[in-house]
Amino acid sequence: MTTPRLQVDLQKVEHNARLLVRQLAECGMTVTGVTKAALGCDAIARVMIDAGVQAIGESRVRNIESLHGSLGQTPIWMQRAPMLSEAASVVSLASLSFVSELDTVAALSAAASQLDLVHHVLLMVEMGDLREGMLPGEVTSFVRQMARFEHIKLSGIGTNLACRSGIVPDARNMAEFSQLADQIEHGLGVSLEIVSGGNSANLGWALEASDTGRINNLRLGEAILLGREPAHGKQLPGLHTDAFLLVAEVIESRRKPAQPWGSKGQTPFDALSVSQGQVGPGQAQASRIQSILAIGRQDINPADLTPPAGIELLASSSDHLIIDAGPDELPIGHELVFGLNYAGLLAAMTSPFVVREFVVREFA
Ligand SMILES: *Cc1c(COP(=O)(O)O)cnc(C)c1O
Repeated sequence: MTTPRLQVDLQKVEHNARLLVRQLAECGMTVTGVTKAALGCDAIARVMIDAGVQAIGESRVRNIESLHGSLGQTPIWMQRAPMLSEAASVVSLASLSFVSELDTVAALSAAASQLDLVHHVLLMVEMGDLREGMLPGEVTSFVRQMARFEHIKLSGIGTNLACRSGIVPDARNMAEFSQLADQIEHGLGVSLEIVSGGNSANLGWALEASDTGRINNLRLGEAILLGREPAHGKQLPGLHTDAFLLVAEVIESRRKPAQPWGSKGQTPFDALSVSQGQVGPGQAQASRIQSILAIGRQDINPADLTPPAGIELLASSSDHLIIDAGPDELPIGHELVFGLNYAGLLAAMTSPFVVREFVVREFA
């Protein structure tokens, strides 16, 4: 079978999504299933929908295009502020966009007017992580100015933490965000249908909180796909962390000196080498069997891989990953299976050289 390949276990993804949908429903929250790390894969979006997510979140128009048409009635959210040049595609393909600039709202409104439809927007609010969003104090004036755009409907507000600066969603910033929703409604006489509190990093707060206030939605990618809460890098109880595995193939296994020889210059990836391959004292002349796998930086950063037990990653270049597999020589053609983190999943999904294989189970 072709390598490198990403083995995708849709049943595990579905299990993760179903459990999270159930747990968050108990806290009064819906789940938007975020597919961007899976390159808008429609099979993955469909299992999320089967599991009960109420919308699919994407940030690239091309992914939305490939999802559109296969999702039935499930709304698609454009989770990154659309570029002005994307306004027309976004209003025709997505039901809702995240916005934080009036120029974007104007472009979306003009595009929606052309198609004679109303486009929904979620106002993004900055709560401390310093990625997207307006400051809380700017929301009221923004909403007032939005009133002139007839083809735009304000659906609610959203915030996003733990993506740039690692600011963790907690009782304090979530209560502030919740109060902001009340203030906007009371101050402006509008109603906010959606109060979207964040991403997978919010789960630590959401599943423990005694009071989740007005927050009624989370947008989950990593937790569904990899069973992890990113803010603390913790595995979430009851979820699968191995729904995605990367398989690579051995193309060379030879005993070689453990240390290079000749005069030493630079290599393009030197500084990023996973390991220099520790050689113990008195072992300068030692040799080891090193194996090469046919996968490289063009597919993934090796720091984002979890190797199988007994395998040490030594270095990688554009298209070679060098490993030490211990005393046993790995045969040519042998396949090794690696775990992945979020950055690894994103990279492997995006590499044109990595094929996808959906795990099929035989039922007795
Ligand atoms: C990527 C993204 C998410 C999902 O983040 P995860 O950590 O994968 O759950 C949610 N909201 C926005 C705005 C995003 O960009």
